[in-house]
Amino acid sequence: MAEKQKKEITYLKGVGPKRAVAFEKLGIQYVEDLFNVYPRDYIDRTNISELRKFQDKNALIFGTIIDKQSPRKHNHPMKITVSDDTGNISCAIWGNMLYRDKQFRVGDRLMLWGKVNYNFQDRAVQFEYRDHRKFQAGDETLLKYPIIPLYVLSGELKKTWVKPLLLTKIIFNAIVGHSSSIKEILPETILSKYKLLPHKEAVLRLHYPKSPADIETARQTLAFEELFYLQLILALKKKTLEAQQKGISFEKTGERLEKLFSELLEFELTNAQKRVIREIRTDMKSSKPMNRLLQGDVGSGKTIVVIFCMLIAIENGYQCAFMCPTEILAEQHNKVLHSYFDKLGVNTALLVGGQKKKVREQILQDIRLGKANVIVGTHALFQEAVEFKDLGFVVIDEQHKFGVMQRAKLREKGLNPDVLVMTATPIPRTLSLTIYGDLEVSVIDELPKNRKPVKTALRFEQDRPKVYDFIRTEIKKGRQVYIVYPIIDESEKLDLKSAVKHYEILKNEVFKDLRVGLIHGRLPWYEIDETIEDFKNKKIDILVTTTVIEVGIDISNATIMLIEEAQRFGLSQLHQLRGRVGRGSEQSYSVLMAEGKLGEDAAVRLQTLVDTNDGFKISEVDLQLRGPGEFFGTRQSGELKFTAADLSKDMELLDKARASATEIIESDPQLRKPENLIIRNYFLENYQQSMSLIKIA
Ligand code: ADP
Ligand code: MG
Repeated sequence: MAEKQKKEITYLKGVGPKRAVAFEKLGIQYVEDLFNVYPRDYIDRTNISELRKFQDKNALIFGTIIDKQSPRKHNHPMKITVSDDTGNISCAIWGNMLYRDKQFRVGDRLMLWGKVNYNFQDRAVQFEYRDHRKFQAGDETLLKYPIIPLYVLSGELKKTWVKPLLLTKIIFNAIVGHSSSIKEILPETILSKYKLLPHKEAVLRLHYPKSPADIETARQTLAFEELFYLQLILALKKKTLEAQQKGISFEKTGERLEKLFSELLEFELTNAQKRVIREIRTDMKSSKPMNRLLQGDVGSGKTIVVIFCMLIAIENGYQCAFMCPTEILAEQHNKVLHSYFDKLGVNTALLVGGQKKKVREQILQDIRLGKANVIVGTHALFQEAVEFKDLGFVVIDEQHKFGVMQRAKLREKGLNPDVLVMTATPIPRTLSLTIYGDLEVSVIDELPKNRKPVKTALRFEQDRPKVYDFIRTEIKKGRQVYIVYPIIDESEKLDLKSAVKHYEILKNEVFKDLRVGLIHGRLPWYEIDETIEDFKNKKIDILVTTTVIEVGIDISNATIMLIEEAQRFGLSQLHQLRGRVGRGSEQSYSVLMAEGKLGEDAAVRLQTLVDTNDGFKISEVDLQLRGPGEFFGTRQSGELKFTAADLSKDMELLDKARASATEIIESDPQLRKPENLIIRNYFLENYQQSMSLIKIA
């Protein structure tokens, strides 16, 4: 019904059918949709005599062309002189002169947007032309505002000849003609509690602020709204899961848990590990299906936590699945699990690609009959052929490499198993609350006591001989070394160092007398595994590699991590790589080799690693440098589409939005109370795909 009252954008002045198609490709179909296209920048409207105050800034002037000079050479600009009541300014205009000549005529009234350069020596203002519009009816009203918005102009719109100031005018027309239809979207109680502006006022002020301070005030209200509705969905999801499904209650704890602690564990658990185990155990006991995120920096000891929890599930007669993002990682985890579980009479099976058909059939049968208690694998675990007898507990490692759908798929294989999602990439809280907001969170925020922080140094080409000497000295002491290259083969990209080529150089020239090994992602997993095993057994001194070793490999005698062309890697990737050393009691080192002149971002990245080992701090910097979409790669960015909110700085707002959304869903899960009607209506109108959530909750 509501749709009918909305006005199609094609009827808006300045649009028409062709541009309407372009707008529709951007998801903008109705005039009302334009209100949510927020400005990307603002320009000050000013007089020509005041222009020099806008040194290096954008400004908008309006006046009449009083003179025009065609260029004397064909590749020179045309010059126009524009005059208003306060003065004249001359302005160079580049482009196709035949076209430009028709565009600008003496006597035309224009608004003109440009960048101001004030040359103090000549005391002259230069105005770098950006865009203009011929004066039309209605422009006087626009020009009453002191600050004029600019919007992102996508390629689609450019193709239909929409220019920046035209887009400003189109959206202005929408606001002038239709803003009376903007409805409130939050209840009065929330507005007053969090000191927010009414929605309509916030929209109008964000587009046409009276002062720069207005912009931030308005943005905060709109950001709160975005975050609030996202948190509302997450709160509903969580509520639905709890209400709809009855999960397993793992009551029993048995002898084997005792034995694990008293006989098999060679170290004392950290307080953080103990706390996290308690949290998970409480969840497992309850009959609600568990959905928990386990965060812990590299080396914080997540595996033993997983082993403990799996053992609980097994004691209660259920199977466990451990899903890993790569086969190498699956194999590594499988080995660790074996080392504990074999002594406890727990059967562990590995299910990965490349296994012989006969072996595979046997494993599948063991899973089906319940002979295998723990199954470790990659996404191969979702395949139709895999039938569990009694899947009760699922661990997903490195969640951000899996899609949300895959999580759901594995769920279907069991009777609402408890799910533990594990990540070694510390995630800034803003992101974890927006992406994993439907999960409970446990954090291991403490490293085992025997660890010495890894010392990190940034080195350049001229330091290479010293770096190699240092490697030699450490190896003489009995230590081992990783050397990481950005690519496998030279042919992939022209100017990057490759693992294969440098393996040859290191093995035959630089470290002739030492044992050098090579692994990379194009080798089959069992060959990689063999080499890693040799490295573990100290048959190799130096392991040359690519980022295949980024996660999961745990060899405590390796104490040097040398990363070549470190400026090519992302921040969290470097942190993960560095996490491969510093896993024992010896002092470890990470050397970041950089080449050439570092870009600004690269310099910040590398310096951050030199300055801190704290994964959370590192991820905050990463988020600031890359923004939320990039942080997780494109796969998850759809869930992070905000226009007003900014996850790298809106933590406080997010906390408030989350608190308020949770409170509402707790007290009124179906949004039936009269004061929540406004939320219900907005929700149903804008999040139709989530409608089922309300019905179920
Ligand atoms: P991650 O969190 O990166 O997966 P792991 O679980 O692989 O870390 O643990 C890293 C190493 O630290 C392993 O060798 C593990 O046995 C060891 N470890 C785990 N917990 C402790 C602890 N409390 N004290 C000492 N060493 C520990
Ligand atoms: Mg691990």
